[in-house]
Amino acid sequence: MDIFLYIIIFIMGTLFGSFYTLAIYRIPNKIDITHTHSFCPNCNHKLGFFELIPVLSYIFLGGKCKQCKQKIRPRYLIIEILSGIVLVLLAKGFNISYSNLQIHTLIELGFLILYLSGIVIIAGIDLEKRKIEKSVIYYALGILVLYIIYLCIVDRTNIYRYIMYLSITLILLIIDTIILKKKAKTSYTLSILILLLIMVVFTGEVVTILTVIMTLLIIVLYILFNKMKSYKSKVKINEKDICSKLNIGFYLSISNILMLINVLYMYL
Ligand SMILES: [Zn+2]
Repeated sequence: MDIFLYIIIFIMGTLFGSFYTLAIYRIPNKIDITHTHSFCPNCNHKLGFFELIPVLSYIFLGGKCKQCKQKIRPRYLIIEILSGIVLVLLAKGFNISYSNLQIHTLIELGFLILYLSGIVIIAGIDLEKRKIEKSVIYYALGILVLYIIYLCIVDRTNIYRYIMYLSITLILLIIDTIILKKKAKTSYTLSILILLLIMVVFTGEVVTILTVIMTLLIIVLYILFNKMKSYKSKVKINEKDICSKLNIGFYLSISNILMLINVLYMYL
């Protein structure tokens, strides 16, 4: 029965989701993501085994810390459930079933999950801090290099294109590092470009173009919404001010995941 397989896949997805929430909180705060035991950010209470179970622990604890009763943000629950759903959709898109468990498909799906994990963490941190976290970009580049090595072994057809994208990414990263050192500030736009290049390799040209179109639509709607708000409240908001608050990395990443699933199902 494939339904059991998909229940396991959903649970795996919620576990990933639980890790994403942890990484989104810890990476910008410079807390170790692998060694430090999970804790309540309010009272530092160390979470027990049952408090670490995704989704269920939130429901049984009523969305509150066991010790200090501080409310846990529903964001945690939402990310866990959504990541479970996305993993199920991806597995279905890849036609995973008991009778169709090919090692090649599983490796491809594995790389995609590693890539998407980076994208989700980038999106979460960008939404919170409006910053594309460099360490996560390095992580994605590492996965990219591994993916290219894997393709070298199994299928060389697209290899030069991927190496070209990787080279451009590296050049941008070097420029970014130099600008960063000189001006002592992060360059958001360059980080977005690097993110786009990584997207092309893992999700393909078509998905990336659709991603950019969807992101542009969201940005236009966002600006219109803010303009209307300023018109109603009669407080003039500068267009530059609106644009400097746009979480482009977040919109791009979410659009990318949606478009990837969309295209996967078109070919199903
Ligand atoms: Zn607490």
